[in-house]
Amino acid sequence: MDEFIPVNTPLVDGNEEKYLSECIRTGWISSEGPFVKRFEREFAHMMGCAHGVAVSNGTAALDVSVEALGIGPGDEVILPTFTIISCIGQIVRAGAKPVLVDSDPITWNMDVSQIENKITSRTKAIMVVHIFGLPVDMDPVLKIAQRHGLKIIEDAAQMHGQKYKGKPCGSFGDISTFSFYPNKHITTGEGGMIVTNDEQLAETCRGLRNLCFQANKRFVHERLGWNYRMTNLQAALGLAQLERLDEFVTRKRKMGARYTELLDGTEGIQLPVVETDYAHNIYWVFGIVLDGTLRFDAEEAMRRLHDQEIGCRPFFYPMHQQPVLRNMGLLAGESYPVAEKLYQRGFYVPSGMALTEDQIERVAETVIEHIR
Ligand SMILES: *Cc1c(COP(=O)(O)O)cnc(C)c1O
Repeated sequence: MDEFIPVNTPLVDGNEEKYLSECIRTGWISSEGPFVKRFEREFAHMMGCAHGVAVSNGTAALDVSVEALGIGPGDEVILPTFTIISCIGQIVRAGAKPVLVDSDPITWNMDVSQIENKITSRTKAIMVVHIFGLPVDMDPVLKIAQRHGLKIIEDAAQMHGQKYKGKPCGSFGDISTFSFYPNKHITTGEGGMIVTNDEQLAETCRGLRNLCFQANKRFVHERLGWNYRMTNLQAALGLAQLERLDEFVTRKRKMGARYTELLDGTEGIQLPVVETDYAHNIYWVFGIVLDGTLRFDAEEAMRRLHDQEIGCRPFFYPMHQQPVLRNMGLLAGESYPVAEKLYQRGFYVPSGMALTEDQIERVAETVIEHIR
């Protein structure tokens, strides 16, 4: 039997070890260490933003962003139903109302034409989530936000190094967030970052990630925050990874191109969009959607590939179908057919940074042979 191909393996063979050793040698291992500020500065700069606030993970970055914008009871936030639970958590906890839109069946991103109909006098923000390596079509979203005076939260967790019409993803939100989980384009093991051009907002985020300690009266709190700090060890990894971001993006595009070349024209499956008029896919993951001609679903497809020693993951389970939200009485009776179908028919194949050419070929051959 062939060796198992995991769905993700990161590449950490640059300056990671060197910078980590420096942390250990100097004793700077906590969030007070010098790599954190350097990573914030350099990362924000590369994303075209003035300020970076490093946090413990991408979910934390979203929690802090929602809180920093003052989103609370009575407010509404528009976001895609086809996303990770991290996006909706703090909206719900804050007592605000999540308002969902469906996906585009081709790009799998939020269908921006559905946004405007969902706006009410209570709408406060649009949370944009770029999906799987192709950005959301931002121009229409920016126009709508401007027309209605709405904030944009841009979840760019799958988009490090991607550009929309030549401008970095992560530079479009009033506040934007990234994750450095090991399957993202750059990783710190666990980690996240908030970027913004708004100094005041950045300062609020710095407070919120650090329990809202105050400079003068440390243990007197005017607001509830979290301990969502990033350690110097994580930032050391992040800096080493950031040095290679361009190389990583190129690598991912090559992987996507190779998968596309090998799988294009295979009956019964839909592949990721290679390119639109606003961006060239960077393939955070290489997704496959089974079309109507195949009489089995993604679960069966993933089982078949797993039997051939190939790791896969399902697509996101839509927010409006989440038991945890339904049980809270939220989103009752709502239906978003494209996202529902994406979950039932979609999965992704091994896409990690360390994936080899041979592995890509074996995955593609196995898909062609077993997914029919
Ligand atoms: C990975 C991811 C997150 C969550 O990041 P964590 O670091 O795992 O908490 C949030 N949003 C999107 C779109 C993601 O892909």
